[in-house]
Amino acid sequence: NSAPLIQREFISINQDDGNISDPPSSKGDDVIRIMQWNMLAQGLCQTSDGFMLCPNKALDWTYRQFHILEELLSYTADIYFLEELDQFAYINEYLGNLGFTGVFFPKPDSPCLYEANNYGSDGCAIFWRKSHFKLLEQENCILLNDEGKKTNQVALLCKFQAPSGKHFLCAATHLKSKKGFEEYRFQQGKFLESVLRKKAGDLPLILCGDFNAEPTEQVVNVMKSSELGLTSAYTHLSETGSEPPYTTWKVRAGKRGREPEEVCHTIDYIFYTTNKFICLKLLKFPTAAEIGEGFLPSYSYPSDHLSLVADFKLL
Ligand code: NDP
Ligand code: CA
Repeated sequence: NSAPLIQREFISINQDDGNISDPPSSKGDDVIRIMQWNMLAQGLCQTSDGFMLCPNKALDWTYRQFHILEELLSYTADIYFLEELDQFAYINEYLGNLGFTGVFFPKPDSPCLYEANNYGSDGCAIFWRKSHFKLLEQENCILLNDEGKKTNQVALLCKFQAPSGKHFLCAATHLKSKKGFEEYRFQQGKFLESVLRKKAGDLPLILCGDFNAEPTEQVVNVMKSSELGLTSAYTHLSETGSEPPYTTWKVRAGKRGREPEEVCHTIDYIFYTTNKFICLKLLKFPTAAEIGEGFLPSYSYPSDHLSLVADFKLL
């Protein structure tokens, strides 16, 4: 019952830059390919997630792990921003063999730990190509609410030196999930934006994450209207500058007698400092037909979230 991983293509973004047709193999020193991906925690996916259209075998680690590695390796990224990772040692070992190193910051009270068969806490991770980047600083950040109280969500910040010697900041985050938590995410986003402003100063910033918020939610506007001067990379995919139609597409079994729910929306983002990077390429999303009738995850894709991959030129 196995199936090949969904194949996707890059599209060049028409911005005023001479290098947009550079193939990845001739990437300049400061052209950086990044991947944003909520990988789907192994500890959650076969139980509490309730992916009723996905065969259990497709969610088994013995099957999923190969598609996860294939998705990570297919696009030759230089920096990975990962959320819901509960297999850090495993990913670290494989990416480590390929010249990467990474850091991980687990959630304070991961829901994975409450599952009978779990792999430890899930959290955010950043991996980078050791030969390209030097880690200058790392900050593990528990997101606070408006009252300064800790929440169960985190962000991971890494300051890097690029091959050219330029410095830039990377951040990965995974905000509180579920309907009814719009205000909660808004508060987490305001806190994160203030942390990033202090940390980044004038440095170029790439902020990636599963914001669990559709484009109309206040928390997305916190980032888009920030003094940091951020653009959402995937708005370059459409001619109108709108966000893509979906970054996740799934059907969950209804809990407590409720009907099953189909969810198809955009909640994952790559934000970058508008005047410090040029976005050169984006990895296109699969069509509905390519995703298939059972949606995500499936035998063809190991997470309910699609990866977002972008090439940036650091100015
Ligand atoms: P969140 O509300 O942010 O969600 C936790 C995870 O559940 C996320 O990874 C999320 O994925 C996933 N998720 C989202 N919607 C659903 C859904 N409808 N069904 C199943 N899973 C979903 O979690 P918190 O960090 O705030 O932790 C709260 C949760 O942790 C509780 O809801 C509980 O399940 C669990 N917990 C249990 C405890 C216990 O004693 N049993 C104690 C503490 C926590 P995504 O972000 O991709 O949407
Ligand atoms: Ca999830």
